Amino acid sequence: MSQKIRVRRHVLARLVKEARRSGEIECCGLLAGAGGVISEILPARNALASATKYEIAAEELFGFFRKIRAHGLDHLGIYHSHPATESFPSTSDIERAYYPDAAYFIISPRADAPRPVRAFRIAESRVEELEIVAE
Ligand SMILES: [Zn+2]
Repeated sequence: MSQKIRVRRHVLARLVKEARRSGEIECCGLLAGAGGVISEILPARNALASATKYEIAAEELFGFFRKIRAHGLDHLGIYHSHPATESFPSTSDIERAYYPDAAYFIISPRADAPRPVRAFRIAESRVEELEIVAE
């Protein structure tokens, strides 16, 4: 884990909360911030309402990108939960990772998860885990 991603603590707490609230359906959304530090969470609707896949509808996604720009922030990450499987990118997560510069966060809603929040860089079908630095 050579690369790091910096995240405000309140965002990490909120991610776990979102994953638990969503229960058996994968939650999803975007993460934004400035200076490489994630400070904002933008929860989205999982258009697939699935336990194993997620999709943010294009209209909602572009609305988020406009909002992020309007606030002078950068789009730094994408998150979703894995209610039923381990917190590692699935085959479809890797196939559909369209943002090579973003950090992909995967959250487990399970109370016994050893690491409820993990982050990955996914580029050219390669997955690299990132070290999350809470600040
Ligand atoms: Zn996934």
